[in-house]
Amino acid sequence: MISGVRMVMLGRQGAGKGTQCVRLARHYVVPHISTGDMLRLAVKEGTEFGVRAKAFMDAGELLPDEVIVGVVDERLNQTSTTRRGFVLDGFPRTVPQAEALAEITRPAPLDLVADLQVDAEVVLARIASRRCCLDCGAIYSVSDPPKYPWHCDNCGGDVVQRDDDTEDAVRRRLDLYDRETAPVIGWYGERGLLVEVDGLGSADEVSARLVAAVDERVAATRA
Ligand code: ADP
Repeated sequence: MISGVRMVMLGRQGAGKGTQCVRLARHYVVPHISTGDMLRLAVKEGTEFGVRAKAFMDAGELLPDEVIVGVVDERLNQTSTTRRGFVLDGFPRTVPQAEALAEITRPAPLDLVADLQVDAEVVLARIASRRCCLDCGAIYSVSDPPKYPWHCDNCGGDVVQRDDDTEDAVRRRLDLYDRETAPVIGWYGERGLLVEVDGLGSADEVSARLVAAVDERVAATRA
Protein backbone atom coordinates (compact mmCIF):
# COMPACT_ATOMS: atom_id res chain seq x y z
CA MET A 1 0.00 0.00 0.00
CA ILE A 2 1.16 3.53 -0.72
CA SER A 3 1.98 5.46 2.43
CA GLY A 4 2.24 9.20 2.72
CA VAL A 5 0.79 11.52 0.15
CA ARG A 6 0.96 15.26 -0.43
CA MET A 7 -2.30 16.35 -1.93
CA VAL A 8 -4.86 19.12 -2.24
CA MET A 9 -8.59 18.50 -2.44
CA LEU A 10 -10.67 20.96 -4.44
CA GLY A 11 -14.43 20.96 -4.84
CA ARG A 12 -17.48 23.15 -4.30
CA GLN A 13 -18.92 23.73 -0.85
CA GLY A 14 -20.93 20.59 -0.06
CA ALA A 15 -19.10 18.43 -2.61
CA GLY A 16 -18.06 16.14 0.25
CA LYS A 17 -14.50 17.44 0.61
CA GLY A 18 -14.48 17.38 4.40
CA THR A 19 -15.88 13.84 4.66
CA GLN A 20 -13.55 12.49 2.01
CA CYS A 21 -10.46 14.27 3.35
CA VAL A 22 -10.96 12.70 6.78
CA ARG A 23 -11.16 9.26 5.14
CA LEU A 24 -8.14 9.86 2.89
CA ALA A 25 -6.07 11.16 5.79
CA ARG A 26 -6.83 7.97 7.74
CA HIS A 27 -6.13 5.76 4.75
CA TYR A 28 -2.74 7.30 3.98
CA VAL A 29 -1.95 8.08 7.64
CA VAL A 30 -1.27 11.76 7.06
CA PRO A 31 -2.69 14.86 8.77
CA HIS A 32 -5.92 16.34 7.42
CA ILE A 33 -5.31 20.06 7.22
CA SER A 34 -8.55 21.99 6.80
CA THR A 35 -8.32 25.78 6.77
CA GLY A 36 -12.05 25.98 7.61
CA ASP A 37 -11.57 23.73 10.69
CA MET A 38 -8.49 25.68 11.78
CA LEU A 39 -10.40 28.96 11.50
CA ARG A 40 -13.47 27.59 13.30
CA LEU A 41 -11.20 26.45 16.14
CA ALA A 42 -9.69 29.93 16.39
CA VAL A 43 -13.22 31.38 16.48
CA LYS A 44 -14.27 28.96 19.20
CA GLU A 45 -11.19 29.75 21.27
CA GLY A 46 -11.98 33.45 20.89
CA THR A 47 -8.43 34.42 19.88
CA GLU A 48 -7.95 37.89 18.41
CA PHE A 49 -7.31 36.24 15.07
CA GLY A 50 -10.51 34.18 15.47
CA VAL A 51 -12.60 37.29 16.09
CA ARG A 52 -11.23 38.89 12.90
CA ALA A 53 -11.71 35.70 10.88
CA LYS A 54 -15.32 35.27 12.03
CA ALA A 55 -16.43 38.49 10.36
CA PHE A 56 -15.21 37.24 6.97
CA MET A 57 -16.58 33.74 7.51
CA ASP A 58 -20.07 34.77 8.59
CA ALA A 59 -20.32 37.04 5.56
CA GLY A 60 -19.33 34.12 3.30
CA GLU A 61 -16.22 36.01 2.22
CA LEU A 62 -12.61 34.89 1.89
CA LEU A 63 -9.91 36.00 4.31
CA PRO A 64 -7.20 38.09 2.64
CA ASP A 65 -4.67 35.87 0.82
CA GLU A 66 -1.65 36.98 2.85
CA VAL A 67 -3.40 36.15 6.14
CA ILE A 68 -4.45 32.62 5.20
CA VAL A 69 -1.14 31.91 3.43
CA GLY A 70 0.67 32.68 6.71
CA VAL A 71 -1.57 30.23 8.60
CA VAL A 72 -1.05 27.44 6.06
CA ASP A 73 2.70 28.04 5.75
CA GLU A 74 3.12 27.64 9.50
CA ARG A 75 1.02 24.46 9.61
CA LEU A 76 2.70 22.81 6.61
CA ASN A 77 6.09 23.33 8.20
CA GLN A 78 5.27 21.25 11.28
CA THR A 79 7.21 17.98 11.35
CA SER A 80 4.14 15.68 11.20
CA THR A 81 3.48 17.18 7.79
CA THR A 82 6.97 17.57 6.39
CA ARG A 83 7.71 13.96 7.32
CA ARG A 84 4.48 12.17 6.42
CA GLY A 85 2.58 14.36 3.98
CA PHE A 86 -0.90 15.89 4.16
CA VAL A 87 -4.37 16.16 2.72
CA LEU A 88 -5.02 19.89 2.33
CA ASP A 89 -8.68 20.96 2.36
CA GLY A 90 -9.95 24.51 1.76
CA PHE A 91 -6.68 25.84 0.41
CA PRO A 92 -5.74 27.12 -2.15
CA ARG A 93 -8.90 28.99 -3.05
CA THR A 94 -7.39 31.65 -5.31
CA VAL A 95 -4.60 31.60 -7.92
CA PRO A 96 -2.30 33.73 -5.69
CA GLN A 97 -2.83 31.14 -2.91
CA ALA A 98 -1.91 28.35 -5.38
CA GLU A 99 1.25 30.26 -6.31
CA ALA A 100 2.13 30.69 -2.63
CA LEU A 101 1.56 26.96 -2.01
CA ALA A 102 3.93 26.06 -4.86
CA GLU A 103 6.58 28.14 -3.07
CA ILE A 104 5.84 26.59 0.35
CA THR A 105 6.01 23.03 -1.06
CA ARG A 106 9.08 23.62 -3.20
CA PRO A 107 11.25 21.24 -1.07
CA ALA A 108 8.63 18.45 -1.43
CA PRO A 109 6.14 19.24 -4.20
CA LEU A 110 2.51 18.09 -4.34
CA ASP A 111 1.76 14.61 -5.71
CA LEU A 112 -1.63 15.65 -7.02
CA VAL A 113 -4.67 17.91 -6.77
CA ALA A 114 -8.02 16.12 -6.75
CA ASP A 115 -11.12 17.98 -7.92
CA LEU A 116 -14.25 16.45 -6.42
CA GLN A 117 -17.00 17.20 -8.93
CA VAL A 118 -20.64 17.69 -7.91
CA ASP A 119 -23.25 19.96 -9.54
CA ALA A 120 -24.33 23.20 -7.83
CA GLU A 121 -28.00 22.07 -7.37
CA VAL A 122 -26.91 18.97 -5.48
CA VAL A 123 -24.61 20.83 -3.11
CA LEU A 124 -27.26 23.38 -2.06
CA ALA A 125 -29.49 20.58 -0.79
CA ARG A 126 -26.59 18.86 0.98
CA ILE A 127 -25.49 22.02 2.78
CA ALA A 128 -29.00 22.80 4.07
CA SER A 129 -28.94 19.54 6.05
CA ARG A 130 -25.22 19.53 6.94
CA ARG A 131 -24.10 19.45 10.59
CA CYS A 132 -20.48 19.61 11.73
CA CYS A 133 -18.47 18.72 14.85
CA LEU A 134 -17.05 21.86 16.44
CA ASP A 135 -14.05 19.97 17.80
CA CYS A 136 -12.82 17.57 15.11
CA GLY A 137 -14.71 18.80 12.03
CA ALA A 138 -16.48 15.46 11.40
CA ILE A 139 -19.47 15.97 9.15
CA TYR A 140 -23.02 14.65 9.63
CA SER A 141 -26.40 15.50 8.20
CA VAL A 142 -29.96 15.64 9.42
CA SER A 143 -30.54 12.35 7.60
CA ASP A 144 -27.29 10.80 8.93
CA PRO A 145 -26.93 12.09 12.52
CA PRO A 146 -24.38 10.95 15.13
CA LYS A 147 -25.39 7.97 17.28
CA TYR A 148 -26.14 10.15 20.34
CA PRO A 149 -27.81 13.41 19.37
CA TRP A 150 -25.86 15.77 18.79
CA HIS A 151 -22.48 14.57 20.04
CA CYS A 152 -19.73 13.51 17.67
CA ASP A 153 -19.19 9.75 17.25
CA ASN A 154 -15.42 10.31 17.00
CA CYS A 155 -14.66 12.74 19.80
CA GLY A 156 -17.88 13.56 21.69
CA GLY A 157 -17.73 17.23 20.57
CA ASP A 158 -20.87 19.30 19.89
CA VAL A 159 -22.34 18.72 16.43
CA VAL A 160 -24.05 21.88 15.17
CA GLN A 161 -25.08 23.74 12.05
CA ARG A 162 -22.29 26.10 11.03
CA ASP A 163 -23.01 29.82 11.46
CA ASP A 164 -22.08 30.32 7.80
CA ASP A 165 -24.38 27.60 6.43
CA THR A 166 -27.32 30.00 5.97
CA GLU A 167 -28.77 30.04 2.46
CA ASP A 168 -27.48 33.56 1.75
CA ALA A 169 -23.92 32.89 2.90
CA VAL A 170 -23.84 29.58 1.02
CA ARG A 171 -24.96 31.23 -2.24
CA ARG A 172 -22.27 33.86 -1.78
CA ARG A 173 -19.62 31.16 -1.20
CA LEU A 174 -20.75 29.24 -4.28
CA ASP A 175 -20.52 32.43 -6.40
CA LEU A 176 -17.08 33.10 -4.95
CA TYR A 177 -16.08 29.53 -5.75
CA ASP A 178 -16.98 29.99 -9.41
CA ARG A 179 -15.19 33.34 -9.54
CA GLU A 180 -12.05 32.71 -7.44
CA THR A 181 -11.55 28.97 -7.07
CA ALA A 182 -12.62 27.59 -10.46
CA PRO A 183 -9.53 29.28 -12.03
CA VAL A 184 -7.36 27.35 -9.54
CA ILE A 185 -8.59 24.12 -11.17
CA GLY A 186 -7.39 25.36 -14.56
CA TRP A 187 -4.09 26.49 -13.02
CA TYR A 188 -3.36 22.97 -11.72
CA GLY A 189 -4.61 21.43 -14.97
CA GLU A 190 -1.99 23.40 -16.89
CA ARG A 191 0.69 22.08 -14.55
CA GLY A 192 -0.35 18.44 -15.00
CA LEU A 193 -1.30 17.97 -11.34
CA LEU A 194 -5.09 17.77 -11.65
CA VAL A 195 -7.12 14.58 -11.25
CA GLU A 196 -10.92 14.85 -11.64
CA VAL A 197 -13.09 12.57 -9.52
CA ASP A 198 -16.88 12.19 -9.67
CA GLY A 199 -18.32 13.17 -6.27
CA LEU A 200 -21.78 11.66 -6.78
CA GLY A 201 -22.79 8.45 -5.01
CA SER A 202 -22.33 7.10 -1.49
CA ALA A 203 -19.38 8.21 0.64
CA ASP A 204 -17.87 4.72 0.26
CA GLU A 205 -18.17 4.79 -3.52
CA VAL A 206 -16.54 8.21 -3.70
CA SER A 207 -13.73 7.15 -1.30
CA ALA A 208 -12.98 4.10 -3.44
CA ARG A 209 -12.74 6.30 -6.54
CA LEU A 210 -10.45 8.75 -4.76
CA VAL A 211 -8.12 6.10 -3.37
CA ALA A 212 -7.84 4.49 -6.81
CA ALA A 213 -7.05 7.87 -8.38
CA VAL A 214 -4.49 8.81 -5.71
CA ASP A 215 -2.76 5.40 -5.80
CA GLU A 216 -2.50 5.53 -9.57
CA ARG A 217 -1.06 9.03 -9.57
CA VAL A 218 1.38 8.48 -6.71
CA ALA A 219 2.58 5.19 -8.19
CA ALA A 220 3.21 6.98 -11.51
CA THR A 221 5.01 9.99 -10.04
CA ARG A 222 7.20 7.93 -7.69
CA ALA A 223 8.01 5.19 -10.21
P1 ADP B 1 -16.78 26.01 2.74
O1 ADP B 1 -15.98 25.03 1.89
O2 ADP B 1 -18.14 25.51 3.07
O3 ADP B 1 -16.80 27.40 2.19
P2 ADP B 1 -14.66 26.05 4.78
O4 ADP B 1 -14.91 25.34 6.05
O5 ADP B 1 -13.63 25.49 3.85
O6 ADP B 1 -16.09 26.14 4.13
O7 ADP B 1 -14.30 27.58 5.05
C1 ADP B 1 -15.12 28.41 5.83
C2 ADP B 1 -14.72 29.88 5.67
O8 ADP B 1 -13.35 30.05 6.12
C3 ADP B 1 -14.71 30.42 4.25
O9 ADP B 1 -15.99 30.86 3.83
C4 ADP B 1 -13.70 31.59 4.37
O10 ADP B 1 -14.29 32.71 5.01
C5 ADP B 1 -12.67 31.02 5.32
N1 ADP B 1 -11.58 30.33 4.58
C6 ADP B 1 -11.29 28.99 4.61
N2 ADP B 1 -10.25 28.71 3.78
C7 ADP B 1 -9.88 29.88 3.21
C8 ADP B 1 -8.90 30.26 2.24
N3 ADP B 1 -8.07 29.35 1.68
N4 ADP B 1 -8.80 31.56 1.88
C9 ADP B 1 -9.60 32.48 2.42
N5 ADP B 1 -10.57 32.21 3.32
C10 ADP B 1 -10.72 30.93 3.72
